Parts: sequence; structure tokens; C-alpha cells
Amino acid sequence: MIEVSGLTKRFGSVQALSDVSFKVERGQIVGFLGANGAGKTTTMDIMCGCIGADSGSAKIAGYDIMEQPLEAKKRLGYLPDIAPLHTEMRVADYITFAARLHKVPNSQLVKQVDETLDRLSLGDVRHRLVGNLSKGYRQRVALAQAIVHNPDVLVLDEPTEGLDPNQILHIRELIKSLAGQHTIILSSHILSEVQNTCDRIIIIHNGTVVQQGSVEELASQAQSGRVYRLRVARNVDQLLPVLGAIGQIVAPRLVDKVSGELEFGLVKGADEHVVDEVSKLVVNGGYGLRELALRAHSLEDVFFQLTH
Ligand code: ATP
Repeated sequence: MIEVSGLTKRFGSVQALSDVSFKVERGQIVGFLGANGAGKTTTMDIMCGCIGADSGSAKIAGYDIMEQPLEAKKRLGYLPDIAPLHTEMRVADYITFAARLHKVPNSQLVKQVDETLDRLSLGDVRHRLVGNLSKGYRQRVALAQAIVHNPDVLVLDEPTEGLDPNQILHIRELIKSLAGQHTIILSSHILSEVQNTCDRIIIIHNGTVVQQGSVEELASQAQSGRVYRLRVARNVDQLLPVLGAIGQIVAPRLVDKVSGELEFGLVKGADEHVVDEVSKLVVNGGYGLRELALRAHSLEDVFFQLTH
């Protein structure tokens, strides 16, 4: 339903995208995850025909956004990172205006606007000025303008950015409720955001796709590494380089100097006896062993490793 192939984009000296490719199948919700500046907005702007790519292509429901923009855009709803809201308009008037822009036929206009306002629980505020709504409601209005023409594909750029936790939950539920009827790609720099909402995750870093797969696949990849949490009574910062010098130990890092906590990983296939060596070293070195335990390796670790 979405096919992005070999996208490259440069802004002056900044190489924003290098050969970005991915596919999203019909009915999926896919999370496009990356740190600030990774290239999410640039990719989405190109996919939606807002800016051109230097090379590569993006197809929406089989239509190339550059070569057949009208056909592609008919099937596309876009919520950009800065929502295109007309604050001086009333909610229902603005959604009607958006529907007209999307060429919804006059005969269906009232029905589709009413249905959209209902789906996003905006009926009660339909006569209010957009500019007077709370941020959460404004974001719902922004979503409404993206879905009023019932597009096959929805592209949502950081849809919960800047909302409070209750509003985030509400928008998440709304997005989940849109799945099935639409194919959705949503961007975020927050892992839990995509983990909770999406079937698949595409991770982008420095303009390149570094990993993609189902949430389960990425989670099982996360399980394949082992990370230990160690807490000592004193001199934790002196212990860090000592640990780093032990073979088979990777990425030792200070978690909290005050409570004397640090973490370290074992290389894949490492002999578990290395943990005995660590405990001996801590005790014999006079650091005072307080805790040494295997920590569940999370999806967050995979994201951290791929993007640092
Ligand atoms: P964020 O989460 O902060 O929105 P992002 O992943 O959406 O980040 P992009 O906005 O796509 O990242 O930016 C990718 C890179 O391209 C960044 O280095 C950014 O500074 C640069 N960039 C984006 N748009 C422009 C522009 N119009 N002119 C110059 N550089 C740009």
C-alpha cells in the first residue's frame, strides 16, 4: 500500500536521507522511529508530495507521488508535524473546507463531515473556533482533516507530540481505532509510543533505515543480548574502567553514581563464568557488592544500540 524506494535528499551540506526504502502492507500500522533529526519528517514530506526527493520514489496505493500526484493524494491523508489548522474557523466549517480540498463530492459532504466529527468525538465542539480549543482537541481536529475523505493511507508525523498523558492515551486509542480501515504510518522519537500502537517498526538513524520488523521480531532480537545490573557500596566510577578491561564485557556504563549503580553487557555467546569473575573482582577490590543481577534486555536497548 506504501512503497518507498531508494529515497535520497540533501539540504545544502546536510545529507538528510540516504537510500531510504521500506514497504507498508495494507491495513498495517507501522511506527517510523528515530531520534530528532533522523529524517522522519523529510521522508514523510516526500511521501506526501510536499517536497521532492533528489532520487528514489514513493508510491501510495500503487501511484507514484511525483508522477501521478493527484491519484496518489486522493488516497492519502497527512497530519504534518505542524498541524495545518485554521484557528479562526469553526471546527465543522474547517473540516468541511478540508473535505472540499480533498474533492469529496457535494452529495456526500455533510455525511462525511458528520461521520468524521463523530469518529473523533468532536460533535460537541463542532461550532467552536479551532483556535479556542485545548491542544488535545486541536490535534483531533488535525486528525479529522486527514481522514475526512476516507483515504486508504494515513501518514501521521509525531501525532502525540506535546500532548499531556491523558490526551496521548486518547489519541493513541483513536489511531488504533482507525487501523483496519486505513493503512497507517506514524512517526515518533519515543519507543513506547510506537511499541504500544504499531504492528511493525522501522528505525531510521542519520537518514538511513537501520532496522525494521514486527514488534515481536525486534523484541526477540532484544532478548538475544544480556545486560547485567551491578550495585556497589563505594568507588563506582573507579570500577567502570576495570570492568571495561575484562574480555567479553561490552558497554559498561554508569547508571547512578550516588546509589553506586552501573550496567554492563556480555558479548553474544559469552561464557557466563565471566559474571563470577566480576563478583570476585568487586569483592576482592573492596568495592562492596550490594547487587548483581541479570536485567531484562528491552526493545529500548535495541533502539539505543542502533542509534548511538
Ligand atoms: P525531528 O524528530 O526533530 O522532527 P526528523 O527525524 O523529523 O526530526 P528531519 O526534520 O527530517 O528529521 O531532518 C533531517 C535532517 O535534515 C536534519 O539534520 C535537519 O536539520 C535537516 N533538514 C530538514 N529540513 C531542512 C531544510 N528545509 N533545510 C535544511 N536542513 C533541513
